[in-house]
Amino acid sequence: MSSSLAEQLVRGDRRALAKAITLTESTRADHRREADALLDALMPSTGRSLRLGISGVPGVGKSTFIEALGLHLIGQGHRIAVLAVDPSSSLSGGSILGDKTRMERLSVHDKAFIRPSPTSGALGGVAEHTREALLLCEAAGFDIVIVETVGVGQSEIAVAGMTDLFVLLQLPNAGDDLQAIKRGVMELADLVVINKADIDEDAATRAQATITSALRVFGFHGRGEHHAAPVLKLSAVTGAGVDAFWQAVQAEALRRRDTGAFDARRAGQREAWLWDIVHARLLADFRQHPAVRAALPHTLADVKASRSAPTVAARTLLDRFETKN
Ligand code: GDP
Repeated sequence: MSSSLAEQLVRGDRRALAKAITLTESTRADHRREADALLDALMPSTGRSLRLGISGVPGVGKSTFIEALGLHLIGQGHRIAVLAVDPSSSLSGGSILGDKTRMERLSVHDKAFIRPSPTSGALGGVAEHTREALLLCEAAGFDIVIVETVGVGQSEIAVAGMTDLFVLLQLPNAGDDLQAIKRGVMELADLVVINKADIDEDAATRAQATITSALRVFGFHGRGEHHAAPVLKLSAVTGAGVDAFWQAVQAEALRRRDTGAFDARRAGQREAWLWDIVHARLLADFRQHPAVRAALPHTLADVKASRSAPTVAARTLLDRFETKN
């Protein structure tokens, strides 16, 4: 079954792609085995897209921007997939992203594939399923994959960790209050976009200048690069600046391909992904282990109440895990 699904998928069949993603999201062991076989079979067809992460607070204009960009790129002959990492869906069952009215024009386009955020992955946290979905989209021939998330630290780190370029959307008043610019997230940004420039062009220009100088101070240290992230302004509603944005993305990707940073980042991401799965699986096994489970409640209580040192308690639990394994 997997082989024919794989064949349909590599021909670009969007229904086969949706089905394959559903398979990877299943918690059933037989589905997981099938999904693993499928992923292995498709690996040679992956890796050829440009992976773009996009983040920003709710209301900044992410879906408006992604729709404008997506339609622009389809106009240039590209095929666009949009995935999401939504930290809220795993916590509350609700969703900050992913309601059905978003990206109405893009979602009906046959050159686009939009997948709402999965609920939390069994292993490796909120991003686990999205990483697999990304590979499947590439195998299905989508040459630009956008992964969207909201301004919540952990999910932004996850998305920056699975994409080639991480884009941070800001509002025109962002520059007025430097406190509002979270240093950690700014360090993740490979490009910063001031959206809604149509509302107040002067404010957007000020924000561009303030953020540009802020990035010169701290922006590139976190990225291990001597090249500050470009800061652009645009309007997702009027479309002004969308083409310039795409050109900046291409220039940045090209620059990184030339320096080797592009491939190095992907290699690092693949390695990190492997370790994420190993860590998650080991932790799950640890928590399931009978001797650990028996000791865990009182050990945790002792640690919380300062009756035992966290280091000693951890070593004792690990000893139980190892000796009676
Ligand atoms: P998200 O929550 O980040 O996905 O934001 P949305 O894309 O849903 O946009 C939030 C609101 O801002 C919507 O009412 C959009 O129409 C509006 N909006 C988005 N981009 C722009 C823009 O460039 N200019 C203006 N004036 N409004 C925008």
